[in-house]
Amino acid sequence: MATFMAASSREGKKLNDVIFSASAAARAAAQQYGAEHIVNATVGCYAGDDEKLGCLPVVEKIYRSLPMSDFIAYAPPIGLEGYRKAAISETFENQIPEGYADAVATAGGTGAIHIAIANYSEAGECVLAADWRWGVYDGLCSEIGRKLTTFALFDGNQAFNIESFSSAVADILRKQDSLLIILNTPANNPTGFGMSCQDWTEVLQVCRLHEKQGKRISILVDIAYIAFAGDKNETRRFMRLFSNLPEHIFTMFAYSMSKGYTLYGQRAGALVGISSSREVIREFAELGRYSARTSWSNVNRAAMTLLMIVRGDTGLQQQIDAERAAFFEKIRQRAAVFMAEAGQCGLRVVPYQTGFFISVPTVASQAVCEQLQGQRIYAAPLALGVRLGVCSIPIAKIPGLAAKVKQAVDAV
Ligand code: PLP
Repeated sequence: MATFMAASSREGKKLNDVIFSASAAARAAAQQYGAEHIVNATVGCYAGDDEKLGCLPVVEKIYRSLPMSDFIAYAPPIGLEGYRKAAISETFENQIPEGYADAVATAGGTGAIHIAIANYSEAGECVLAADWRWGVYDGLCSEIGRKLTTFALFDGNQAFNIESFSSAVADILRKQDSLLIILNTPANNPTGFGMSCQDWTEVLQVCRLHEKQGKRISILVDIAYIAFAGDKNETRRFMRLFSNLPEHIFTMFAYSMSKGYTLYGQRAGALVGISSSREVIREFAELGRYSARTSWSNVNRAAMTLLMIVRGDTGLQQQIDAERAAFFEKIRQRAAVFMAEAGQCGLRVVPYQTGFFISVPTVASQAVCEQLQGQRIYAAPLALGVRLGVCSIPIAKIPGLAAKVKQAVDAV
């Protein structure tokens, strides 16, 4: 179909968001049959066993207590200074890599990923991510004229596939002088996988090799789910490996308040950069400020203020940690029941460690999801499998779910 009014370059652009479509079907079914008769596994937000979107109580209390000026006043495009500092300390906790660091406030983690792609990959060139990935990466790349290329996340033993990673990097760098690599870990969406320190050491070895040959490599670690991955400092241990890297290996983190603070719609995040070069970081902050001003101008001041308040008060931080731990425990219990039953009924599942999602590999994810819908179970069909959001399925609806998924997989 030709365009009517839009620029010809926009012809046929359409958001094909399979997750939102599956989610809409689940909501319609809940209205028709009653929420108690359906399983909605499409949601990517934490819900309690009452199936209501969960909000950390301390977050609600602080947010509601903020003055109106915090909700209506502009903030600087780069973000409030205290927020940028807080985002850096939230990103690293006690595992601070040696080097220069700065942060740019962004419209959620999505904004951080956008800024990273815009400034650290060349127009028309490839960006590398894993095959099991958040589908939005593809659109974020193509919208600004980059191509997303993938490597296989898992090897035959379901471990990080360093060979696939290494050969993908080499293939791309035969044609490009620089490369942006996006890795979503820990608590990967959609698999729950987390890279170990050993995996990271090997990844950095590959990067160093190419850097020595004159290539420039940027790594974006998408830590959207890090608050639901286990002990803060344990899950961040790999971050120390980014200390004193050569100046042409630049590491960034896409930090988000969406999951960690249950503030999904408030659109607050940050792109955090760490480098051994002061110049690299200076440039990073300038580019970030420019990108922010020209895309969303500035972000939610109230959310930024909330983070500053929390990080400035040890008591509040402990309270949030305890409340979050309670949410995390619910997710862990749901996942444990599902995984145990998957083992019993022989359902093949991607090895789950932590996080919001469990994935079932299948080449026919759409057909499996349709089968499941026949049983009023709604899941997200992805390119490599079916994603189930244990973040929001109440524990009472988990027993028997793995067996039903197995039936659906076997039926197609
Ligand atoms: N990265 C991953 C893997 C995600 O799943 C999400 C949200 O679903 C995000 C980043 C960014 O979320 P937000 O833009 O709400 O911070």
